[in-house]
Amino acid sequence: MSGGKEHLQACERVFPVALALSFLMLFLNWLVALFIPIGYMLEFFIDPDLDELGITSAEGRMIHTVVLIPLVAWTTLYAKIIGKHRSFWSHTPVIGTLIRLCWMLFPFVALLWYWHILPNSYTPQIFLGIWLGLSMADTVHWLKDR
Ligand SMILES: [Zn+2]
Repeated sequence: MSGGKEHLQACERVFPVALALSFLMLFLNWLVALFIPIGYMLEFFIDPDLDELGITSAEGRMIHTVVLIPLVAWTTLYAKIIGKHRSFWSHTPVIGTLIRLCWMLFPFVALLWYWHILPNSYTPQIFLGIWLGLSMADTVHWLKDR
């Protein structure tokens, strides 16, 4: 089992693979390909360890770089709902990723909807790219937790 720093270092080492997959995806869908690295880098802020109560390393980075206390409260609520650290619902790549991504994006999407910015025809492709990228990073995290 690894800590937050080891997870992040492993994700950084595998990032070129995500970039290569993103490049290959360019031939299928350029918009999805564009958002794969962005989704991968979201691991920096919303890694699977957000299911831990207290300040995780991801939340610490969030506080130091974003300074959004309501966001930390939102992630704490997520941890309370998930209930158990390293549960199937938080740590399983793809499924856990989808749940965490929907939870974390919900306030931003609600604001964008309020401002009539979303949805548009690009939204599903952007979401798919972010989900794929974050799922790749979560897979690295999941493997490090083994
Ligand atoms: Zn973990």
